Amino acid sequence: MTARKINRIAVFTSGGDAPGMNAAIRAAVRTATKNDLGVMGVRFGYQGMIDDDFIEMHHHSVSNILQHGGTILKSARSEDFRKAEGRKKAVENLRKHNIDAIVAIGGDGTFRGATVLHDEYGFPVVGVPGTIDNDLFGTDETIGYDTALNTAMEAIDKIRDTADAHDRLFLVEVMGREAGFIALETGIATGAELILLPEAVKKIDYIRDSLNKVFKVQRRSSLVIVAEGDETGGALSLAEKLKDDFGKYEMRVCVLGHLQRGGSPTSHDRVLAGRLGSAAVQALLNGHTSVMAGVLNHKNALTPMHKTWSEKKSIDFELLELAQVIR
Ligand code: ATP
Repeated sequence: MTARKINRIAVFTSGGDAPGMNAAIRAAVRTATKNDLGVMGVRFGYQGMIDDDFIEMHHHSVSNILQHGGTILKSARSEDFRKAEGRKKAVENLRKHNIDAIVAIGGDGTFRGATVLHDEYGFPVVGVPGTIDNDLFGTDETIGYDTALNTAMEAIDKIRDTADAHDRLFLVEVMGREAGFIALETGIATGAELILLPEAVKKIDYIRDSLNKVFKVQRRSSLVIVAEGDETGGALSLAEKLKDDFGKYEMRVCVLGHLQRGGSPTSHDRVLAGRLGSAAVQALLNGHTSVMAGVLNHKNALTPMHKTWSEKKSIDFELLELAQVIR
């Protein structure tokens, strides 16, 4: 907790963009202005802080944005901010604009940066979890995750139609370099025959045997959902390993890629973003710093910033077992 009086805050989005970031910006700006705080937006995340890319924000600056994907404040990855010299420049600019505290909307990397900023300069900062990966400890869900799940599910339903028409094997890669949350839930939602995740490594012989059962015994189409960070090296690499195994049954690969990041946020993500963008500003007003505003068991919860990235959020292994039962 800090006793420092806050008159003016800065809001920014950083790292990979996620649908719902705009709704989170809107909630933070409007909660701040309702509490008579000045607000500045920083464009392009930490890089904008270093490059002095600040804009004044008011109630109407965030009108008509909550239904749009992307982020009106833009996002970036900044190598300069990883260096002490870059962070010194960022803090000089924050002070020049009379910023007393910041709201950081992003993923684990963004919160690592925020932790360093707080530890080095004591700068008050509260995080809002904005990433499609859902891999942050301290919140049941991150902003953008639900939209990404639905986007992937719709795409995979279409792939299933064509796979079924030809009795083909499709390897579909979804995002998730470190974590398999998207793969697990889209796999269940689309009835995938196999789900491959970094958290539950499967040997290539097991994968081959499972798919053989589907193809040679049941003779039907098959969908494998592969998280990009899976041990197999992703869908393209897995296809290479399996290329000689399925005879006349054709195999196809589809990497869903960045389409999972775009699109209008679902109602779930808009509400979550509204809740957490507002909770972050309230937390600053209540004297909290170096925490992330999240939702645990349907209730708002603050988690120390360093725990959000240093502790590992686990996938639900019961869901993984369920996937095997009902596939
Ligand atoms: P996503 O989960 O969607 O990828 P992210 O917030 O994890 O989003 P990153 O690119 O990992 O995205 O991090 C965003 C930025 O945070 C980095 O480009 C860098 O500027 C800053 N950052 C990350 N780690 C550190 C660190 N250890 N020290 C200082 N800054 C950091």
